[in-house]
Amino acid sequence: MPVPLLDVNAQNHPLTEKLREAFDRVLASGQFIMGPDVLAFEQECAAMLEVKHAIACSSGTDALVMALMALGIGPGDEVILPSFTFFATAGSVARTGATPVFVDVCPICFNIDAEKAAAKITSRTKAIMPVHLFGQSADMDAIQALADKHQLWVIEDCAQAIGSLTKGKPCGTIGHYGAYSFFPSKNLGGFGDGGLLVTHDDALAEKARMMRNHGMQPKYFHSVVGGNFRMDTLQAALLRVKLAEYDSFTAGRQRNAAYYTEKFSELPGVIVADPAHCQCFTRQNDWLAETNAKIILPVSYAHNTHIWNQYTLRVIGEGQRDALKAQLMEKGIGCEVYYPLTMDQQECFAHLPDASRSDCEIAHRLATEVLSIPIYAELTQQQLDEVVRVITSWIRGGPI
Ligand SMILES: *Cc1c(COP(=O)(O)O)cnc(C)c1O
Repeated sequence: MPVPLLDVNAQNHPLTEKLREAFDRVLASGQFIMGPDVLAFEQECAAMLEVKHAIACSSGTDALVMALMALGIGPGDEVILPSFTFFATAGSVARTGATPVFVDVCPICFNIDAEKAAAKITSRTKAIMPVHLFGQSADMDAIQALADKHQLWVIEDCAQAIGSLTKGKPCGTIGHYGAYSFFPSKNLGGFGDGGLLVTHDDALAEKARMMRNHGMQPKYFHSVVGGNFRMDTLQAALLRVKLAEYDSFTAGRQRNAAYYTEKFSELPGVIVADPAHCQCFTRQNDWLAETNAKIILPVSYAHNTHIWNQYTLRVIGEGQRDALKAQLMEKGIGCEVYYPLTMDQQECFAHLPDASRSDCEIAHRLATEVLSIPIYAELTQQQLDEVVRVITSWIRGGPI
C-alpha cells in the first residue's frame, strides 16, 4: 500500500462545500486583493496566536523580508540564523543586502544553539532569527537573553510552527516579529502562496503594513521603499475555512507522532532523543554517545507543544539514511531529506567570510542523518501501520 509523504486532498476535499462558498463570496464581491476577508483572517489569526497585530502577506519568505525591511536591516549589518533550516531564512537576509551568519544547531531539537550564537555576535550584528524547525520551539529564553544583552532584534521564523507553544506562549509572539507560511505543505496549508507576520508592537506593525504595500502612506505618497507583499482575497477566504478546523489538524499530527514513537521505540537499536543531551539547555557535549543507536526518534520537550510539521528520524551510520530512504521509496512510502545541505554549505553563500560559515559540524552531520516520514493528520491507521511495518523490517534486517 503506497503512503504519500503528504496528501493535501485528504485535508481539503472534505471541506469542498465550505471552500466553494468562500470562493463564490469572493467572486461575487469582485474584490481580489486584500479586503474584508483578509482583515477577518488577520483578526482570527491574531486571536489564535494571542498577539495584537497580524499582517497577512504573500508568502512566508515575504513575511521575513518585510520584517527585515521594516527594521531597516541592510548592507553592513549581520543577522544570525541557524545553518540547518530551509533556504528562505537565509535567502531573505541576503536579499536585504545584510550578511547572514550561520550558527550550528542542537542534535536533539534541531534548533539554533544559543551559546554558539553568542560566540558569533559582533558589533555589526543587528538581529537574530531563530527557526522553530519541524514544529518545535527553539530555546527562546536563551535567545531573548542574548538579544537583550546585545540589543538585537528577534525575528522568529515560524513557517513550520504555527500554533506551536513554548512554556505556554505561542511561537512567534516572543520576539519582535514572528513570520508564518501557508505554503501547502505547512501545517495550515493554503491554496497557493501566503504568509503572515505578527507583532505585539504598534509601531512595528505600522512599519510592516507600509512595507507590504510599497511603503505607501497615504495613497501615492512613499516615504520609504516597500514591496508588493499583499495577500489575495481568495487566499484569505479559503484559509479562513481551514483555520476554523486547525486544532483538529494539529491533534491528528500529534496522535500520529505519538503512535510512531510508541511503535518504533520498542525496536532494538531505536531510542528517543534524550533531552538531557540537548546542547541548548545542558551543553553536555556527549551527544556522540547516543550514536550507538541505529535510529534516534524525535522528542518533544515537556515545556514545548510540538505541532509536528515533520517527524524526523536520525538514521545513524554512514550510508544508512540513504539505504532506509531507498527502501521506503521502493515500497511506495513517501519520505524526504529536510535538508541535505546546510546553509553554510550552499554555493550561493560560498563567498561569505569564514566567520559566517564556521563551526557548523552538528548541522553537517544532521544533513547526512535526517529522514522525515509521513505525519500528516489524515493518515489512516492502515497507512500508519504500513510505515511502521516497512521501517520495522528494515531495522530488523528481515524480509519486507
Ligand atoms: C516554508 C518555509 C519558509 C518560507 O515560506 P514560503 O511561504 O514558502 O515562502 C521559511 N522558513 C522556513 C523554515 C520554512 O519551512
